[in-house]
Formats: sequence, C-alpha cells, structure tokens
Amino acid sequence: MKNTISGLLEINKVSTSKIDQVDFDNLNFGSVFTDHMFVCDYKNGAWQTPKIVPYGPLTLDPSARVFHYGQAVFEGMKAYKDDHGDTYLFRPDENFKRINKSSERLAIPEFPEDYFFEGLNTLLKLEDAWIKPGVGNSLYIRPFVIATQASVSASEANEYKFMIICSPAQSYYSGDVSVLVAEKFSRSASGGFGYAKAAGNYAGQFYPTKLAKDQGYQQIIWTDSNAHEYVEEAGTMNVFFRINDTLLTAPISDRILDGVTRKSLIALAEKQGIKVEVRPIKVSEIVEAVKNGSLKEIFGAGTAAVVSPVKAFGYKGEHYELEKQDNSYASHFKSALMDIQYNKAEDSFGWRYKI
Ligand SMILES: *Cc1c(COP(=O)(O)O)cnc(C)c1O
Repeated sequence: MKNTISGLLEINKVSTSKIDQVDFDNLNFGSVFTDHMFVCDYKNGAWQTPKIVPYGPLTLDPSARVFHYGQAVFEGMKAYKDDHGDTYLFRPDENFKRINKSSERLAIPEFPEDYFFEGLNTLLKLEDAWIKPGVGNSLYIRPFVIATQASVSASEANEYKFMIICSPAQSYYSGDVSVLVAEKFSRSASGGFGYAKAAGNYAGQFYPTKLAKDQGYQQIIWTDSNAHEYVEEAGTMNVFFRINDTLLTAPISDRILDGVTRKSLIALAEKQGIKVEVRPIKVSEIVEAVKNGSLKEIFGAGTAAVVSPVKAFGYKGEHYELEKQDNSYASHFKSALMDIQYNKAEDSFGWRYKI
C-alpha cells in the first residue's frame, strides 16, 4: 500500500486551530470535528483535484439529489495512537474496497485508491494533535459520498462529493444492552442493498428502533425479511452468539454488511483455537439455547464500540436474561483486538497500517 505524500492534493490550512476549545475528557461521540476535511468533486465524468480545506458547512443546491433520493454511502474507521506517538489505521484497505462496493450498488462512480490513501495520510498528519494516545482514545474517521447534482429528476447523478471528516472519540461503556428480536420489521431485503453502507439503510432503522426503545430495549436484532426466522445483525453491528464454547455468526449475504470487526474476530478466534460456526442461525435455536442454559453470550461487533455485549433479549412477548460470564468472550476479544489496534500486541495478520 502507498504511504507517500505527492503533489496530488491541494491543501488550504486553517490559520488557527480550534483544538484548545475542545474538552477531550468529555467528548460526545461524533459531535466535535477536527480543523480540516478532505473534499473531492466528481464532474464532467471525472474526479477532480482532491483538496484539504478548513472544516465547515457546504453550500448545496436544494435540489441536490442526495436530499431527495438518498444517493449516499459512507464508511466508519478509526485512527489509533500508540505510546510512541505513532498513528495507525486498522485494515483501511477493507474500508476502501467497501466504500466502492457500496458506491457501485448505488450507481456512484468508483473513487481512486491513490486519492483515498493520500487524502487519509495527509489529513491524519495534519490532525496529529487531535489523535490522543491511550487505549480507548481514537480519531473516528467518516469518509462519505453524496450526489450533489442539482435536479430532482429521479436517476443517478452526474456530480458527487467524496469527503472525509474526523471526530475525536473516547471509548465509552454504555452498559450491556437489551435487544428486541425483530418479528415484523427488516433492515434489508434479499436483492436490496443491506450489504452496502448506504445512508438509506440507517434511515429505515430509526423508526423500528424507536418502537423498540419504547418497550425498554436499546437495539433490534434484525431477522431475515422472508420469514423473520434467522438472526442477521444487531442494530448497526454484526452479531455473535456463544453457545457453550462455540461462537456463531451469520454468513454475509446481500442483506448483511461484511464488517471488518466481524471478520477480524472470526480470524482471531480461529487462530486461538476457539470453534467458530459461520452459518444461518435460527431464532428458535437461540431461544432453545437460552432456555437450556447453553447460550452464554450475545454481542455486537463493529468499529465504533468494537464489541458490545447484550444482557437480555425480547422475543414474541417473552423476555430472556443472560447470565453474566466471568472471562467472557466479549471482553477477551475486545482487548485482543484493541491490543493490535494500539500496537500493544504482535500484528501477526498484518492488519495495522502506519500513518
Ligand atoms: C458498519 C456496519 C457494521 C460493522 O462494520 P465494521 O467494519 O466492523 O465497522 C455492521 N453492520 C452494519 C449494518 C454496518 O453499517
């Protein structure tokens, strides 16, 4: 992978940083952004010269297609700083491939690899002071693409913006969550675009999630859209079940997002000799396992929280509590992955990418 800075980018730096106004001990996830952002416009059939400019609002025509038809995709990744002050990304090639896979599904033109990596490297070097060392601290990175063409005609746009914005983050522990297994709603359908990180997938989740919250659950375990018979994802994360000492997760499909955390956990587990079954998992099997005591853990997996343990779930009017485990797989995998991300453990898979 390239790790150089050529003369590809135009850079317009802020005159004074706003970093001194930020309270790094009390960060609200995703609400404070760094001094600069990366912007690259697509027009006349080509991506134009990428730029790094001061972070700030955009001016878009009210008819820009993203506002009407939701032609938008995004990514979520993090930069981590080790004790020597070096910054690392975690498997950024996966995020690069995935944003183009998402773009393809939404008829958005592919973004060039050298622009992406040069943009990331340059931006993260400029924002070095915003990346705080210490396990749990990180810089959340949000690349995204929106259709900017002015016209409410319902077809794919011919103008886009590819941007990267960055927000300092702390690890937060919001407590183990309770989840409701979906019996009616789905987040994606066969033949749809659930596998893409598309804005619209999220918009469609908010209402069912709000209803679940009214019932005292924080998230939804999404089930297949055909018969709601199989578990697929948890909220905006992939989902794992531990039955006795075996880890189970659903295979990726056109309805399930191919998470980087998910596949990294599978690789780590297999390397450590933990049995992993990647196969369709029936809701009825999980209910049976919780009843006979073999269901030890449920957890979500994704970049933002790494691993998010589930303490209880609701299904068909019943509420099932999981017993708290000593030495849970969830906490074991969370530290194993974070040790690699923060350069505290050997990176035998070659996942770290140094800025
Ligand atoms: C982003 C996302 C995930 C997790 O992917 P990671 O690459 O691990 O961050 C899982 N499910 C959905 C629906 C997502 O949008």
